[in-house]
Amino acid sequence: CTPEVRELLLSRITDVHDYPKPGVVFKDITPLLADPLAFGALTDTLVELAGRYGATKIVGLEARGFILAAPVAVKAGIGFIPVRKAGKLPGATLAQAYELEYGTAEIEVHAEDLSAGDRVMVIDDVLATGGTAEASLELIRRAGAEVAGVAVLMELSFLPGREKLAGALAGSPLDAL
Ligand code: AMP
Repeated sequence: CTPEVRELLLSRITDVHDYPKPGVVFKDITPLLADPLAFGALTDTLVELAGRYGATKIVGLEARGFILAAPVAVKAGIGFIPVRKAGKLPGATLAQAYELEYGTAEIEVHAEDLSAGDRVMVIDDVLATGGTAEASLELIRRAGAEVAGVAVLMELSFLPGREKLAGALAGSPLDAL
């Protein structure tokens, strides 16, 4: 995105220290969502990225990824697919477990939502360890679909998320923070 848009987006993200636990700096995007100019500019940037990478489907990662991905899918004129935490989707699912700092987590997608011939872009707000995004790429590949790339609003540069995605990071409008 342009330097002006980057500045606008940056000015609408709040660092919340020691949330949800001591030592963590939480990137709060709610001020950005409340500003239609900023939210619209971010959406336009992600639509452009989805087009550049030839995406034919958009996956949003629960929960903030849903908020960013849904308007991108509508504006791009392609389908939106939710990847949810385990146990939330009513139909037949594919599930993928992944490592957390302590323990494991699991995400799911409706099996019928992805198939061969789809080219899928994954959207989320923050790329931290990259575990969630990497697991979503596994789901896409296991469904027989192709990965167009991962787009996030921002990366946490002190964590190895980018390396974990092994070249699949299509873009992060704010780059490493
Ligand atoms: P990870 O799997 O470690 O890359 O974590 C990514 C998920 O956790 C994303 O869905 C983010 O929304 C959330 N997340 C991780 N770290 C932060 C942070 N510092 N601020 C806001 N959200 C975060």
